[in-house]
Amino acid sequence: MTMQNIGRPTRPEGAAESTGFTSLTGGRGLLQDEPLIFELGGWTKTGVDLPAASGDAADLAGLTRAGVDLPGLSEPEAVRHYVRLSQKNHAIDLALYPLGSCTMKHNPRLNEKAARLPGFADLHPLAPVATAQGALQLMDRLAHWLKTLTGMPAVALTPKAGAHGELCGLLCIKAAHEAAGQGHRRTVLVPTSAHGTNPATAAFVGYSVQEIAQTEDGRVDLADLEAKLGPDVAAIMVTNPNTCGLFERDVIEIARLTHAAGAYFYCDGANFNAIVGRVRPGDLGVDAMHINLHKTFSTPHGGGGPGAGPVVLSEALAPFAPAPWVVSGPDGLDLVEEAAADAAQAFGRMSAFQGQMGMFVRAYAYMRSHGADGLRQVAEDAVLNANYIKARLSDVMTPAFPDGPCMHEALFDDAWLDGTGITTLDFAKAMIDEGFHPMTMYFPLVVHGAMLIEPTETESKRELDRFCEALRALAATAKLGDVERFKGAPHLAPMRRLDETLAARKPKLVWKRESGGA
Ligand SMILES: *Cc1c(COP(=O)(O)O)cnc(C)c1O
Repeated sequence: MTMQNIGRPTRPEGAAESTGFTSLTGGRGLLQDEPLIFELGGWTKTGVDLPAASGDAADLAGLTRAGVDLPGLSEPEAVRHYVRLSQKNHAIDLALYPLGSCTMKHNPRLNEKAARLPGFADLHPLAPVATAQGALQLMDRLAHWLKTLTGMPAVALTPKAGAHGELCGLLCIKAAHEAAGQGHRRTVLVPTSAHGTNPATAAFVGYSVQEIAQTEDGRVDLADLEAKLGPDVAAIMVTNPNTCGLFERDVIEIARLTHAAGAYFYCDGANFNAIVGRVRPGDLGVDAMHINLHKTFSTPHGGGGPGAGPVVLSEALAPFAPAPWVVSGPDGLDLVEEAAADAAQAFGRMSAFQGQMGMFVRAYAYMRSHGADGLRQVAEDAVLNANYIKARLSDVMTPAFPDGPCMHEALFDDAWLDGTGITTLDFAKAMIDEGFHPMTMYFPLVVHGAMLIEPTETESKRELDRFCEALRALAATAKLGDVERFKGAPHLAPMRRLDETLAARKPKLVWKRESGGA
């Protein structure tokens, strides 16, 4: 393998050798190898023709200008750099993106068009409300749709992600307990299958976390919940449908037990896309729930953002919603930045300004283009697609919960790989060679070697069939014992197996020019 001086492989190991082709530059097919932009640009070169800086050094109070070490590139060099990088990434515009829990659905271009309307895109967050009536109206209507779809009386729009929404919801719950003289409640109950952000958020707010056991069929163990509910419990955090892709059948009883113990029911609504238009969480006894607009209402996400995680609140928690919110006044719509009631400012704001306006526009465009009946079909098609995958793969892979249908995700364990010497990770890496992004691996933790597949509603039968055929063929190869195919995978990707743990724990965020460099 050829290595650059910073140690990154530039060519898939064995790729050129095995095909008989020689790539001197690390390029492959029509894909070009691409160094860092700093390694690419010339330090003495510039892509634009600026006049020499005039200016008096005295203006800078005696400070001298130091080099900023920006690489100089011509426009085509800069454009090609970013296009080449983009081609190394998987994208929802390229193919199925089966990451379970993440809900990677197609982002309609109509949403993008609406978000780029100058009246939305160019609006300053400090613009006087008289000049921002359209934006306020959009926020108000989005809030109305969210409240209607969830059957909840209030919504806080500002949280900027699902996890941020969890924080908002738990802060509301904490404020409500404190206002009721129940501030001694210090525990949050979380099922073993929960997304990692749930216990992390509870701990961040200062609660101690206790796990609720799971039943054989992947749901909350009611007896265990009942045993753990007590005078010290502030809230439960339950995802529904849960992270095993299953509806919590006993959700009404879960809410009843929770309320009877004086605790609040926080629902992780990341999977709302599976039930939107079919079930209103408010009818199930939920007190607070975040909605990942980027999962249910198709706003783009990945790479950490930007997302939006509005939180709907029950009657009991509504007074604690963080500002700002939109109200109707004599001169049109207004923005309440500071509420009069003490409770409302219990924990301050969740973010500066009004939240992710661009995401509000996209989500609202998605809602309006689907309509109420269309949103219901979104949920139905998402569930249908997941069940199609479950049905087509269950004879070659082992479904974690074989009995009955799933919701929007098909969950498999690694029992079917027993004795092959191949792991979930190996199998997922081999999928890359087949042109597919891997599914979510090893989550939820309660399922051994979990493979969580979420097709979403935006995939056609043809695409689902292509995916299933590829997985069936790979599964057959695995069972025939072709271990090398899997252990060495991905063979065809520009990068092979990287040390992802090292990359996450010790990211290299700074580039330093080597002395004597170009
Ligand atoms: C995605 C997800 C979250 C976190 O949402 P972010 O928007 O990524 O912060 C929480 N819980 C579940 C079940 C999720 O799938």
